[in-house]
Amino acid sequence: MNAFAEATTPAVFLDRDGVINVDRGYVSRWSEFEFLPGAVSGLAALQELGYRLVIVTNQSGIGRGYYSEGDFALLSTQLIDHLRDAGVSLTAIYHCPHHPTEAQGGYRQTCACRKPAPGMLLRGLQDWSLDPARCVLVGDKPSDIAAGEAAGIGRLFQVTAHEARYPAEAVSDLSQVVRRLKTV
Ligand SMILES: [Mg+2]
Ligand SMILES: [Zn+2]
Repeated sequence: MNAFAEATTPAVFLDRDGVINVDRGYVSRWSEFEFLPGAVSGLAALQELGYRLVIVTNQSGIGRGYYSEGDFALLSTQLIDHLRDAGVSLTAIYHCPHHPTEAQGGYRQTCACRKPAPGMLLRGLQDWSLDPARCVLVGDKPSDIAAGEAAGIGRLFQVTAHEARYPAEAVSDLSQVVRRLKTV
C-alpha cells in the first residue's frame, strides 16, 4: 500500500479526433477544428470530478507529409488556449507522427506509440505517476480501446453509434462518459 500513489489524481486519456472534435480526417488547422457537442462541457465536468485530462492522438498526417510537427504544435496551443478560456486545463498532449507503411523517411516505422500500441498511454502513466486501474480512456476507434486495454486502463469508453469493442462501454459523447462515471 502506497499512500502517496493512492493520493495522486487519476487521469482520463482522451483520443482527440472523433472524441473532442469532429474527425474530418487529418485535421491540422484551428479553422478545421470543430468541437463535438458536449465536448468542452464534458471536459470541464471530468476535471471537476478530479481527473487530469491527457490527450493521446495518432497523427500520421505528420509522417505522411500532410502537415508538419509545427502545424500540430500550433493547433495544440490553440486548443489549450481555447480550453483554458473555458476553465479547462489539459495536463498533456501525446501524439504519434509515425506510420508503418505510409509515412516518409524516419517517420516510416513500426513504433511503440501508434495506437493500438499502448506507448503513449504508458508514457503518460509514467510521466504523471498514474495508477492505470484508476484511469479512464475515451476513444472512438477499436484501436483506441485496444491501446487502453493493453495499458491496463481501468475503464474504457468508446464514442460510437454502434457496438463498442469489448470491453469498452459504448457512449454517444463525452457528457455521457461523465454521467456514467458519476453513477458508479
Ligand atoms: Mg479518433
Ligand atoms: Zn509512433
